[in-house]
Amino acid sequence: MKDKILAPELIERQYEYMARVREWNPDGLKVHVVTFGCQQNEADSERITGMAVEMGYTVTESVEDADLIVINTCAVREHAELKALSITGNFKHLKKKKKSLVIAMCGCMVSQEHRKDRIKHSYPYVDFVFGTTRLYTFPEILFDCLITRERRFYLDAGDEGNIPEGLPVYRASRFKAWVSIMYGCNNFCTYCVVPYVRGRERSRRKEEILKEIEALARDGYREITLLGQNVNSYGKDLYECYDFADLLSDICKIEGNYQLRFMTSHPKDASFKLIDVMAREDKIAKFFHLPLQSGSDRVLTAMNRHYTREHYLSLVRYMREKMPEISLSTDIIVGFPGETEEEFCETLSMLREVRYDNIYSFLYSKRVGTRAAVMEDQIPDDVKADRFERLLALQNEVNLSKNREFVGKTLEILVEGASKTDKSRLTGRSESNRLVHFSGDPSLIGKSVTVKITEADLHALIGELV
Ligand code: SAH
Ligand code: SF4
Repeated sequence: MKDKILAPELIERQYEYMARVREWNPDGLKVHVVTFGCQQNEADSERITGMAVEMGYTVTESVEDADLIVINTCAVREHAELKALSITGNFKHLKKKKKSLVIAMCGCMVSQEHRKDRIKHSYPYVDFVFGTTRLYTFPEILFDCLITRERRFYLDAGDEGNIPEGLPVYRASRFKAWVSIMYGCNNFCTYCVVPYVRGRERSRRKEEILKEIEALARDGYREITLLGQNVNSYGKDLYECYDFADLLSDICKIEGNYQLRFMTSHPKDASFKLIDVMAREDKIAKFFHLPLQSGSDRVLTAMNRHYTREHYLSLVRYMREKMPEISLSTDIIVGFPGETEEEFCETLSMLREVRYDNIYSFLYSKRVGTRAAVMEDQIPDDVKADRFERLLALQNEVNLSKNREFVGKTLEILVEGASKTDKSRLTGRSESNRLVHFSGDPSLIGKSVTVKITEADLHALIGELV
């Protein structure tokens, strides 16, 4: 099958624009990138920052100091869109103070026609907007803006389906790395805007992925997370018989002291073969994020999810049989149109049955252009809020009891940084993705340590170095 890599000359052309902006920018102006949404957006922002650095910008944490601000937006829920619009609104006064400031917006929200129009008319201080399929043309767009100072809106998916290889990257962490293995989504879950804003599914060539991971392993990265909207369908557009499980097996042959993670999986495509590879390979973290969305078969059908509660449970049973220590997390949507009280209770019963280590729960949010947005029986906000509270209360009980099971045990932790709540302590994550706080020297950041757990609360474990 034909792959969808962009012609190398199109990338070379962007490198030429990067050189032109660098020449224009001898004093090393400053860039600040704001990121909303999922890990895919985090990974995209690392490419945007990488290109900006290549163009001579230095990275600043302070918006006040920035000469270029890029807001990378999310569209999955209305809340994320409103946050991005509100923060953009706050930047208006910066532009008043510094006329030369360039403000750009990109990502999923601005890839929707109605949002693009709103920005065009209501946010005149935004200089340019570029959609997800235009990310790689950022240098050319920026150059045009710096020279002409004209406002422009680039949403055409002229190169939709194409994969840019070889763009520079500026990794936010020196020990944790994101690696996109595919882009887009074909699933059209009826509530979800992603397929509309990120285009159809397309896989990167395995050689490119392996090359990137070899370099990360050589550079000492300790945690590598493979990204895609549905990593379990990796390769379907590209290979006759090479799938995600095969890719994982090949990656695990790469030597290095790293742990491999991946997200997100779709239960309709998660295979027993994949679970076997996970069980076999020490390098793969024994952690699985498997979005359920709803415990009701009727709602799952209305969501166009293509699996049943029973199929989902069969995957969980097989995982636990092969890897008794496996940690499971999920996504749940509360208040999908037409969801009855009984159907919601089926979701609660799934939580009791599976006993997830963590859940990410969301109030259903109407997305323009999706099938669910025009379904009858939209659930009133107060009913959604009440169900949401009950869901959280149940999961809190499970979390607390699961966390308490760790007291007295020792865990291997990758140290991530100072604790957000108590700066005198360090924070890290276990293989099962549990947050662990403990006292230790900051020189341990980026290293693995063994911690004995002494206390547990709802959100985290507390321990001592051993
Ligand atoms: N491709 C991934 C992630 C999609 S977005 C996946 O399929 O799991 C992350 C989560 O946001 C989804 O799993 C879903 O639970 C939630 N989500 C997506 N659209 C939503 C909507 N319209 N309202 C509320 N939650 C939504
Ligand atoms: Fe959205 Fe479904 Fe695709 Fe996930 S699999 S991105 S929820 S359409």
